[in-house]
Amino acid sequence: MVPVSDDELDGIRLDGSYDIAGVPDEFQRLWTPHRMVYIQNGQQPPEHECPFCMAPGMTDEDALIVARGTHAYVLLNLFPYNSGHLLVCPYRHIAQYDEASPEEVAEIGSLTQTAMRVIRQVSRSDGFNLGMNQGRIAGAGIADHLHQHIVPRWALDSNFFPIIAKTKALPQILGDVRQSIADAWPPSSPADHTATAE
Ligand SMILES: [Zn+2]
Repeated sequence: MVPVSDDELDGIRLDGSYDIAGVPDEFQRLWTPHRMVYIQNGQQPPEHECPFCMAPGMTDEDALIVARGTHAYVLLNLFPYNSGHLLVCPYRHIAQYDEASPEEVAEIGSLTQTAMRVIRQVSRSDGFNLGMNQGRIAGAGIADHLHQHIVPRWALDSNFFPIIAKTKALPQILGDVRQSIADAWPPSSPADHTATAE
């Protein structure tokens, strides 16, 4: 018998999905070891190992990047809340939104707008959660490198899995999601990269 405590339900520990990582299923795995820092007990990586600094030096496929701008870029969250959960990051290793330059702020904004349009087109989402967690106390996983979350929402996207086992049912593997969003991303125009556009 598996002992049952307040931290367990049907033998599944509730204090972290890490503990159920060994359950086999039919999904392929996309291993990106450079981003394992996400799950290392909340430790912040040193700047030379920062996943958001390293990602632009890799291929789009390996880094799950869907679009690259002049001052910022867009990649899939390796641990998505929902299918198509994107992050918009400045290339510079800065932690706080008020450290971003006007050019970075403008491009983070324009990339966020484009991402919303692309996700609506690709996956017909009903809504979005947009936001930045500033500091570890506010929930930032990689607190030292600014990143804006774009989480698509559907009317019926919440179910009992996150509640009982901190597990989300994600219908598409990350590589397929990245490809569909990257394919739908419009070619960059000067307006995308110019803070003073319009
Ligand atoms: Zn960084």
